[in-house]
Amino acid sequence: MASEVRGVVAMAKGAPVSVETVIVPDPGPGEAVVTIQACGVCHTDLHYREGGINDGFPFLLGHEAAGLVEAVGPDVTSLAPGDFVVLNWRAVCGECRACRRGRPWYCFATHNATQKMTLADGTPLSPALGIGAFAEKTLVAAGQCTKVDRRARPEAAGLLGCGVTAGLGAALLTGEVDLGDSVAVFGCGGVGCAAIAGAHLAGAATIIAVDLDPRKLALAESFGATHTVDAGAADPVEAIRNFTDGNGADVCIEAVGNPAVMAQAFYARDLAGTLVQVGVPTPDMRIDLPMIEFFGRGGRLKPSWYGDCLPSRDFPMFIDLYLQGRLDLDRFVSETISLGDVEDAFHRMERGEVLRSVVVL
Ligand SMILES: [Zn+2]
Ligand SMILES: [Zn+2]
Repeated sequence: MASEVRGVVAMAKGAPVSVETVIVPDPGPGEAVVTIQACGVCHTDLHYREGGINDGFPFLLGHEAAGLVEAVGPDVTSLAPGDFVVLNWRAVCGECRACRRGRPWYCFATHNATQKMTLADGTPLSPALGIGAFAEKTLVAAGQCTKVDRRARPEAAGLLGCGVTAGLGAALLTGEVDLGDSVAVFGCGGVGCAAIAGAHLAGAATIIAVDLDPRKLALAESFGATHTVDAGAADPVEAIRNFTDGNGADVCIEAVGNPAVMAQAFYARDLAGTLVQVGVPTPDMRIDLPMIEFFGRGGRLKPSWYGDCLPSRDFPMFIDLYLQGRLDLDRFVSETISLGDVEDAFHRMERGEVLRSVVVL
């Protein structure tokens, strides 16, 4: 029996989202139905609504979620009803050339549920990032469910499904921040603050937060930033050099997705330093760097997909660190809201008032 649930849908480009009836099929082979307990509001949901991802309207939004497995398809052995899971949007295939070479975090053929969820009239829905978790239940590929310790708060655990892992991974996995390193993080929203938390976990000695908004800089300090730069009042490159004996930072993390900020992060590195790009750009953005500077400064320029994480390996570890009090996931939860409040939460996010609004069901 398919389920009839409530879900937050973007019906048309730019139109306010609305709560609609969503039909969730029973799980088929390789699939699972998950009862959602909590789901964070991310910029990507807003980008879907604005038509910035693609024009596959209507979209079922929401993708930073935790919940309980309700049912699994006939061939699914990795999960059972009642499991507490965090949803991920990169279920690795195990068979593509990246997976076969032992680099599954790069998987080039990640997959989602095969069946479609629909509106009550049968119109197929496009779930955001293949998840669609602003809903009482959702249908995903079984590989999109990662079992974690059920003692974690769903509101906090679900955030690992996207932005927080992107930031933690940008520092820990892509940037390979090491004990004693200097790190500069450009943009201190959810992803940037998570990168700061990751640098702190890794034992970075100097962590410099850069943002235009003093409220974000105060948050950055609460996650472990040792220095802050108000990019509206000072030149970030110069300020970062001043905080690092004139040298620049070992690792610069760009968490905005803006060419001018990326150029600052490029020049704010020490020689042989690493630039990590985790802020998502738009298709029109270009970068233009003198090739002699690219060569002459050495080091590494590394894009970070989903923090280069492997959910099955990393989500349970991050939850363990959280439960030990070493990773403050609760601090990312600015407020809890209900399904009908997502549109207002978009506006608070745009005004920079929250790190994460989290829908609790
Ligand atoms: Zn693969
Ligand atoms: Zn997200």
